[in-house]
Amino acid sequence: MAVIGAGPAGLIVANLLRKAGVDCVVLERHTRAHVEQRARAGLIEPRVVEMLRRFGLADRLLRMADAHTTCEFRIDGRRHEINYSAAHGGRRHYVYPQQELVTDLVAAFLDAGGDLRFQAADVRPHGLDTDRPWVTYVDGATGETTRLDCDFVAGCDGFHGVSRASVPAGALTEHSHEHGIGWLSVLAEAPPSTKAIIYALHPDGFAGHMLRSSTVSRFYLQCPVGDSVDNWPDERVWAELHKRLALRDEDWTLTEGPIIEKRVLDMRSFVVEPMSYGRLYLAGDAAHIITPVGGKGMNLAAHDAERLAEALVAHYEGSDALLHDYSATCLRRVWRSQEFCQWMTEVIHASRDAGSSFRQRLAVARLEHLLTSPAAAAVFAENYLGQD
Ligand code: FAD
Repeated sequence: MAVIGAGPAGLIVANLLRKAGVDCVVLERHTRAHVEQRARAGLIEPRVVEMLRRFGLADRLLRMADAHTTCEFRIDGRRHEINYSAAHGGRRHYVYPQQELVTDLVAAFLDAGGDLRFQAADVRPHGLDTDRPWVTYVDGATGETTRLDCDFVAGCDGFHGVSRASVPAGALTEHSHEHGIGWLSVLAEAPPSTKAIIYALHPDGFAGHMLRSSTVSRFYLQCPVGDSVDNWPDERVWAELHKRLALRDEDWTLTEGPIIEKRVLDMRSFVVEPMSYGRLYLAGDAAHIITPVGGKGMNLAAHDAERLAEALVAHYEGSDALLHDYSATCLRRVWRSQEFCQWMTEVIHASRDAGSSFRQRLAVARLEHLLTSPAAAAVFAENYLGQD
């Protein structure tokens, strides 16, 4: 079994297979230090934490992560808190930086004797429509080309990886949507100025205060599509955050700190169907990407990975039913998450660039419904926390 990519998807597949006694080799193009330091997501759904705990992969997470039960919408300078945990049976999110999870998963796999090859260059899958595919790669240390023969290939190499690109043209259907919204994503060495994630709607555009750790926070600022970080010197970033996150009738201070990462994300959604071709099974961002609005990307990657590992284990136990259903099972959750994130994208960008005044008014009506109706809050909570 070959797994391409050591992100959350590939590492969860590999760990679960290893625990079931199925041999696999993970090929990762970057160094261990690089994947263990790549800061991205931070919000983990309760079902993912429970899955990791069940497989003995959540010890450090459960010791270090903060549990979260509320989020805040800031509209016209006023707070509106939603206790989504109370609206959904007391279930809680965990805030744990993605790079910490990746670090834990790398260590667990290597400690269990797993075969993880970093700096694997020019990885290429071959013979995917045969019973015996193989993967070639160039060893980063020796420069030698190596061939791995396997039963299956797990394509867990993200949106720009080689796995999906190796499928013959026309074999997969791609669904893609550009939202026409840009976000400046900022990571700062600043302790959080809030206990709950803040989604702020401001006439100049959305601003978000996300949580990562006691010393680091992520912020988002709505900006034009295709904007450049060169247009966002640190002083402008902080000035816009102060303005868009400001409260009207309360004292509240935004704590600043050194900015350690800035990038512009153009909001885009993408899904490929089916999530397999021959003996190649795609998982995580290799098969779908979603706007970061609802914190779903890493959670979908973890769900795909769990489904794929269980299907492969079942194959070696004599049943291919789960492999047959793998794509359909994952896509149900993927589309439900896409729908939720689309809803949330429209709601939090209501104040600006919502496309038309009609859509702006719809977005405001949705938000009012969410903030005044327990039934709407329960639906939000179920989607935000993720289905069981
Ligand atoms: P990746 O994490 O992209 O891992 C793929 C791996 O494959 C990488 O290690 C890569 O180096 C390797 N690779 C790529 N090509 C090759 C190749 N040719 N050969 C070998 N290896 C290869 N999600 C959330 O759930 N919540 C959030 O709050 C959130 N915030 C985000 C914020 C930002 C700024 C970004 C960029 C993303 C965010 N996401 C969030 C999305 C989340 O990070 C991704 O959905 C998640 O990383 C997907 O995991 P993955 O394993 O599928 O892919």
